[in-house]
Amino acid sequence: MPGPILAVERLSKGFKSGGQLVPVLRSLSLGVRPGESLAVVGRSGSGKSTLLNLLCGLQTPDDGIITVAGESFHRSGNTSFEARWAELRRRSIGVVFQEANLMPALSLMDNVRLRAHLAGHLSGNERGWLERLGVGAEADRYPDQVSGGQAQRAALAMVFAMSPALILADEPTGSLDRHTADAVADCLFAMQRETACALVLATHDTELASRCDHMLDLSGAG
Ligand code: ADP
Ligand code: MG
Repeated sequence: MPGPILAVERLSKGFKSGGQLVPVLRSLSLGVRPGESLAVVGRSGSGKSTLLNLLCGLQTPDDGIITVAGESFHRSGNTSFEARWAELRRRSIGVVFQEANLMPALSLMDNVRLRAHLAGHLSGNERGWLERLGVGAEADRYPDQVSGGQAQRAALAMVFAMSPALILADEPTGSLDRHTADAVADCLFAMQRETACALVLATHDTELASRCDHMLDLSGAG
């Protein structure tokens, strides 16, 4: 069995509120292997987004170690190390949020090309990814000219075009109706299996969570 692509050891994060540190994540450990999917579940406010933000570097942990593809990150204040970590994230970690974060001034196609380029994976087959995700016909449209479901499919095409080792998805279908959400989730899981990348998916949707290989419930973890 391959070793974990993502390993988290004793990760802690809290937020100051009224002069007091309120813990959100307390000494959390987990591991995800290539091709595996982990659902992060728990009531609203249980720390799902906080965990994913720590994993993609949007927030800094108070304590603990995050290892991606054999490279470890901890709160060291070592800037050269932080630069290496940022580089690793740019190349290897694909992130999907509840709302598709597309550049409004670029067509869907150019959004995909830009993300692939930043990851060093521009292949010339970016249109192919949009087609695989079912939005090939919309490739030359701009984000404000497509539906929410189509924008989220383009966001997934961006992530897969960068050939990521790890995908972090925070409520990726949370703003879609049930039918569209299921169709987008079908695409996400099919492509994730095919590319054998690891997936960490935060959701309050138990049906979506049950499609993952493993589940981590953060309720009561704070
Ligand atoms: P979830 O995604 O599970 O709904 P979050 O990770 O967004 O939960 O939030 C967990 C807790 O941390 C909540 O109580 C929230 O208010 C708090 N929190 C999250 N981000 C911040 C922040 N930047 N500053 C202060 N408190 C925050
Ligand atoms: Mg959240």
